[in-house]
Amino acid sequence: MSVDKVYLDHAATTPVFPEVAEAMYDLLLHHYGNPSSLHFCGRDAKRYLEEARGQVAALIGAEAEEIFFTSGGTEADNIAIFGSAAVAGGKKHVITSAVEHHAVIDSCKELAEEGYDLTILPVDEYGVVHVEDLQAALRPDTFLVTIMHANNEVGSINPIKELAVAAHQAGALFHVDAVQSVGKIPVDVAELGVDMLTYSAHKINGPKGVGALYKRRGLSISRRVFGGGQEKQLRSGTENMPGIVGFGKAAALTALRWQDEMAECRRLRDLLVELTLTRIPDSRLNGHPSQRLPHNANLSFDYIEGEALLLYLDIAGVACSAGSACSSGSLSPSHVLTAMGLEDRWLHSALRFSLGYGVTEEQIRYTVQVLQDKVAQLRQASPFYQAK
Ligand SMILES: *Cc1c(COP(=O)(O)O)cnc(C)c1O
Repeated sequence: MSVDKVYLDHAATTPVFPEVAEAMYDLLLHHYGNPSSLHFCGRDAKRYLEEARGQVAALIGAEAEEIFFTSGGTEADNIAIFGSAAVAGGKKHVITSAVEHHAVIDSCKELAEEGYDLTILPVDEYGVVHVEDLQAALRPDTFLVTIMHANNEVGSINPIKELAVAAHQAGALFHVDAVQSVGKIPVDVAELGVDMLTYSAHKINGPKGVGALYKRRGLSISRRVFGGGQEKQLRSGTENMPGIVGFGKAAALTALRWQDEMAECRRLRDLLVELTLTRIPDSRLNGHPSQRLPHNANLSFDYIEGEALLLYLDIAGVACSAGSACSSGSLSPSHVLTAMGLEDRWLHSALRFSLGYGVTEEQIRYTVQVLQDKVAQLRQASPFYQAK
């Protein structure tokens, strides 16, 4: 079987829907006005800006006025965290979890550097945060709890509704990074009961470099970027119009398509996991068996170096991602898998496969075949595996 280009890294980024690219092209060529300009070109652009805001809002059940466009999920996380710290009124304590994206964890650590108190909640073996742990950590001076909806590495889903209730009972705000969950599982701000929510266009088949912060009506946080006062003063700078229009289109298409597409992703993901676990000895699925995103499979292979297997898959035309990031020449294991308490052998051999629009059963079967061959080949060359 030969299949060219199997893209199984949708948690890193997604291909842009053709309709999204067309909407961006049309905007660039024909609606180039600055939405702040008063003349007809500006008013024309402004209509596109506000239409996109409505589309992006609708995807999470928000009102358009509650959506603030940013340069991506990272900036939205930063604005939520630093913006609420600055209006905390003397409260000094912030809570997050051990498995957050670096946009959240590093922002919280920066606050700690600046003199705030930081609590990093543990997770269970599946990467899930427990409400009791949050309740025990909350203090009268906790101003913010920021916990992700679904994890980008293992796909585990946190009980956001319950966590937000606990935070509110203690008088703290609740921010959720929903970059991975929007368009994959139901995300509705009223249902979740959160004060702020982050999402990003390029994880839902939109363009890179644009995201949004949902901030519930009536909540006021301080700004981080000063200038022309765009986005109701919260985030100055001439709007990234092609990006925003692409985000709007991607949000509208995602709202129509996600349920069917995720049902198919779940079927194919389950097939990938089942074939892998039955055909490849000493392999395992990391993360929660059921409480996980429908398109994510994080798999480990004993006696295998994840990066080596990744390279073999790359050569065979399969794109996925490693659980450990090679930084400055040393292999540093994933903070997520480490927080889950994974044994070393599973930690260093983890690969993340994330499915999305366009992935076929043929591609999944091909991927398993490559995995089977390459794992066997690498183990053949391993004196440790031979001696086991
Ligand atoms: C991708 C991602 C981000 C960052 O979003 P960008 O738009 O790439 O800045 C933040 N949080 C999570 C969970 C992500 O997966």
